[in-house]
Amino acid sequence: MGYTGCGMNVDFLIIGQGLAGSTLAVELLKRGRSVLVVDRQDGTGSTRIAAGLITPLTGKGMNPAWRQQHYLPKAVAFYHALEKESGRKLYHSTPVVRVFASERERDKWRGKKGELGQWAHELPELEGPFQNEFGGIEMPDGAWLDTLTFLHVVQDKLMDAGSWREAAFAEQDVSFVDGKVKWQDVVADKVILCQGAYGLKGVDGYQGWFSHVHHRSAKGEILNVWIDELDEARRYHCNGWLAPREGGMWKAGANYDWKNMDAIPSDAGRSDVLNKLNTWVKLGDGKDVPMEVIGHEAGIRPIVRNSMPVVGFHPEMAEVGFFNGLGSKGSLMAPAVAEHFAAHLSGECDLDDELKLVQPG
Ligand SMILES: Cc1cc2nc3c(=O)[nH]c(=O)nc-3n(C[C@H](O)[C@H](O)[C@H](O)COP(=O)(O)OP(=O)(O)OC[C@H]3O[C@@H](n4cnc5c(N)ncnc54)[C@H](O)[C@@H]3O)c2cc1C
Repeated sequence: MGYTGCGMNVDFLIIGQGLAGSTLAVELLKRGRSVLVVDRQDGTGSTRIAAGLITPLTGKGMNPAWRQQHYLPKAVAFYHALEKESGRKLYHSTPVVRVFASERERDKWRGKKGELGQWAHELPELEGPFQNEFGGIEMPDGAWLDTLTFLHVVQDKLMDAGSWREAAFAEQDVSFVDGKVKWQDVVADKVILCQGAYGLKGVDGYQGWFSHVHHRSAKGEILNVWIDELDEARRYHCNGWLAPREGGMWKAGANYDWKNMDAIPSDAGRSDVLNKLNTWVKLGDGKDVPMEVIGHEAGIRPIVRNSMPVVGFHPEMAEVGFFNGLGSKGSLMAPAVAEHFAAHLSGECDLDDELKLVQPG
């Protein structure tokens, strides 16, 4: 890489510095490739507001994520390496308690525990202000990624390498010359779009190279709340979740909204989250636990195929790549997928069929 009389030459121009763009850039740098990461820093990115939760068993079915066995150790190693390099803490191990909402849920767990015993064990008794007559399970490998610190650490690393730029990217500003990509003063072998929901059809009016990709992205809202009554050594899930931060502060979330594709906190979103929590966070006398809302944020989860991310290239432009669809499990998925995509982009392996962006019809 370098500045020449006619601009900057890099192997890869990466658009977006969320989890996708950040992990990909780090993996490419590791392989000695040169990158320029461009981000418009307008505060709408989903990584910025995500709670960064890693939860070994999720959903009604209490299932591990796709490829979790393989991807979780890679994620842990990736974040720990960045911690070591930067001296800043990113990955916080915190056991997760799932409070059973019903007898049916408890029976479901008991039917599956042989198969899932690696990820959780049943708790004989639940402590805390919960509707807890059915008990619950504890997942010792739960964790959260401090996504904001993560973004700062990667940004600092990229700035040190002369590989970061604040700018708003527009596809119409790109030209293709002699098999290279030209944008502003930059000439790159490839441009890789890592724009999250903002690179998917219809979100904020996006219409462009990848508008043929079907998606079911979902807006989500998160609250910052003060609660006195809970043990901060754990995170709690049931209908929604409560994740400890410091000094009695908790993150509370999250709802799913498939209609409003924006990152604006709404009264409806706030009520959704609080109503969810009020179904299971209860004092002994059945009263609601006092919660003071002191912050509120929103973002859009880029969902292409549930929580299976996608990587690949534009069907007609081999110089244009794509890494998206991190869904609601970006913290877990991004490092391993980025490692694979970076290896592919560096000519080390074929693209994994299961991660490939499949074109419709
Ligand atoms: C409410 C909520 C809660 C969540 N909770 C969790 C959780 O607990 N655990 C978890 O793992 N995941 C969670 N997620 C999901 C997680 O946020 C995503 O999986 C992940 O952050 C997506 O990363 P990304 O890099 O694809 O997108 P983004 O983080 O959105 O990054 C895209 C970046 O591209 C930039 N960009 C876009 N277009 C342009 C352009 N034209 N020019 C320049 N820059 C551009 C944006 O500014 C942004 O910085 C949550 C999401 C939401 C909304």
